Amino acid sequence: MSRINQKIYCNCCGKFICMESEREKASFLSIVKEWGYFSDKKDGTVHSMDICEPCYETLAGTFAIPPEEKKITEFV
Ligand SMILES: [Zn+2]
Repeated sequence: MSRINQKIYCNCCGKFICMESEREKASFLSIVKEWGYFSDKKDGTVHSMDICEPCYETLAGTFAIPPEEKKITEFV
């Protein structure tokens, strides 16, 4: 968990992203994964992480298959 004193940090580079209260306005990747029964070693554990946008760009650049991209036509 990369949250200390209501602050969100990037798990990848350790940089401060934003305050938890500002998370709706910030641009970063937030992942929560419950490793269930079919996981080899992590059975029943929950991993959560926050990745800042520059780290996400770097990470996605290493993928063999790039993330699927769609344009949002409607902002809610
Ligand atoms: Zn980062």
